[in-house]
Amino acid sequence: MLEVANLSVSYGKHCAVDNVALTVARSEIVVILGANGSGKTSLLKTIGGIQPATHGAKIALSGTDLTKLRAHSIVEAGLALVPEGRGIFGDLTVRENLMLGAYAKRARAGEAENLKRVLTLFPRLSERMTQAARTMSGGEQQMVAIGRALMSAPDILLLDEPSLGLSPLMCGELFGALGRIRQAGIGVLLVEQNAKRSLAVADRGYLLENGRIVGQGTAQSLQNDPAVQRAYLGVA
Ligand code: ATP
Repeated sequence: MLEVANLSVSYGKHCAVDNVALTVARSEIVVILGANGSGKTSLLKTIGGIQPATHGAKIALSGTDLTKLRAHSIVEAGLALVPEGRGIFGDLTVRENLMLGAYAKRARAGEAENLKRVLTLFPRLSERMTQAARTMSGGEQQMVAIGRALMSAPDILLLDEPSLGLSPLMCGELFGALGRIRQAGIGVLLVEQNAKRSLAVADRGYLLENGRIVGQGTAQSLQNDPAVQRAYLGVA
């Protein structure tokens, strides 16, 4: 459903993403593993339209070319990005943050239904709808950020380091929720440093090194790959 090809990102002379190609299908969780500075955030931001794509790049969602669209039109086309650091509004309540995601035209008719789904996915949000978002724990704020993205009824969800800074318990809840998001038919493209947990839930993965895809495969084949074990899974 999401198809990316020939995607490069440069900052001046520095090439942060180099000719990347990837796909994400409906009901599929795809993880991009890479060390700090390997280009993961630049890649996601470009797919999400926060950063312009380079000339000749292909970013298509179910056949619709996203490269010429602004970020809000990309959301209308069915792709939602949860940025690193979450980007929620601390002074607004949980409900207000969630409703910000519902402005998309594609989501308006199903707003009540979408909210119900988000609260079923993250039950602890329903107890805290009137609480200021900044007073929520890191894990709860991540749930608000993902919930807000889901309120736009996306076909594809992009997540930048969702487990960053979360306790093991919260990580467990988060990765469990990704499985349920997949069941709803949504495709998830996930950038993560937590290789162990993300490979456990993902269907497929790509390895990014210095902006290049240097390996790819099913989550299981990556888990069993000695080089992946050494570089990402802490196996000596
Ligand atoms: P991390 O895991 O540390 O967030 P990352 O894999 O997400 O890293 P990026 O943030 O995409 O990597 O950065 C890739 C490279 O591009 C790095 O060398 C970084 O310093 C550089 N870079 C990122 N944003 C900019 C920018 N706005 N201007 C200049 N260089 C940048």
